[in-house]
Amino acid sequence: MLTKEEIVYWLKEDNPDLLQALWQNAGLVRQNHVGAAVHLRGIIEISNYCQRRCRYCGINATNKTVKRYLMSIEEILQVAQTIQGLGYGTVVLQAGEDFRITCDWVLELIKRIKNETGLAVTLSLGERHPDELEAWHWAGADRYLLKFETANPLLFKKIHPPKNKGVWKNRVDILKFLKEIGYETGSGIMVGLPGQSYEELADSILLFKELDLDMIGNGPFIPHPGTPLGKDNQQRKNPVQQVPNDALTTCKVNALTRIVCPDVNIPSTTALATVDRQQGRESGLMSGANVIMPDFTPLPYRQWYDIYPGRMLLYQTPEEQHALLVQMLRKIGRTVGQGAGASLNYLKRTERVFDS
Ligand code: SAH
Repeated sequence: MLTKEEIVYWLKEDNPDLLQALWQNAGLVRQNHVGAAVHLRGIIEISNYCQRRCRYCGINATNKTVKRYLMSIEEILQVAQTIQGLGYGTVVLQAGEDFRITCDWVLELIKRIKNETGLAVTLSLGERHPDELEAWHWAGADRYLLKFETANPLLFKKIHPPKNKGVWKNRVDILKFLKEIGYETGSGIMVGLPGQSYEELADSILLFKELDLDMIGNGPFIPHPGTPLGKDNQQRKNPVQQVPNDALTTCKVNALTRIVCPDVNIPSTTALATVDRQQGRESGLMSGANVIMPDFTPLPYRQWYDIYPGRMLLYQTPEEQHALLVQMLRKIGRTVGQGAGASLNYLKRTERVFDS
C-alpha cells in the first residue's frame, strides 16, 4: 500500500525514464489481479436535460444554447440491440438530472433491456432519491456510476451547487448507500480542476480505497466555454500547486489507483481519449485500465450531449469504432473481455469469489 507522500511523489514525477517504473508496476498489478481482458461497455447518453448547475459541465441548466433531448425507450432499445450484437456484455445509461426521467420510466427501460437483450445495466443518472436507486436495483440494474469529482469538500462545493440543501457529503453518502443495497458501485474524479492540488489528488486516490469502490473512472477536466469554469482562468495562477489537466497526469492517477485498489475495474475514459486522440485510449490501458466504454449515442443526440468540447471529433460508426478498438487491443497484447465483466472487487466484497 502506498502512503500519501509516495502518491504525491509519483504524481509530481515527470522524468519519463523514472515513470516507466510506475507504468510497469501498474501493468503488473493489473495483469495479476484482473488479467489481460479489456471489457467493452456500450454507453448511451439517453438525455441531456439537467436541473443542476455544475460549474464544469456543458449541459448544466444555465447553458441556454444547448439543444435538449430525451431518447425514447424504443430508440434506446434499438441501440442496446446494436451493443449486444457486437458481443458486448454491458450497456451504460447516462444522463443529466431531470424530472422528465421518472422512476417508472427508468423501471420500464431496465426491464425491457433485461428482457430483450440480457445485457448488464449500469446507470449514471446523477444524485437520485434513495427510493429510486433501490427500486432500479430491484428491477435489475446491476451497477451505478457517480463520481465524487474531487476529495476536497470546499472545491466540490465551489464547482457543484447543491440541488437543495445537500452538500458534498451527499455524493459519498450516496456511494455508501449504493454499495449497501447491492449495486456494483463506481466513482472517480476529474484531473486538473482549477484549484486542485497534488495533495488533493492523493486524497482522492486514498478515498477510492477507503470507500472500497468497485469501479473508478478518472478523466482530465476539459474546460467548456459555455460554463463558469471554462471561462475563468484565475484559479490557474499558482503553477506549483495547480495540477495539470492533461493525459499524462490522468495516466499517473490511473496507475496509482490500480496499485492502491488492485481489484477494481478502471476505464480508459472518453475524456482521456478526447485530450489525446492518437494515444489516449491506449495509454489509459497501459497505465492500469481494463475497461473501455465506447459511445453509442446516435446522431444527432451525440452532439447535443455536450458536457465538454471535442467529443464529436471521436465520432465513428459503431462498426468502425468496434473494429478499431479490437485492432488496438490486439496491437498491445490485450484481449476482448467476455461476458458482463463484473468487478473483481465487487465479487470479493460480496463473497462471490474468495481470495486465493
Ligand atoms: N449527471 C450525471 C452524469 C454526468 S456526466 C452525474 O452527474 O453523475 C459524467 C461525468 O462527466 C461527470 O461525472 C464528470 O466527471 C464528467 N464531466 C462533466 N463535465 C466535464 C468536463 N468539463 N471535463 C471533464 N469531464 C467532465
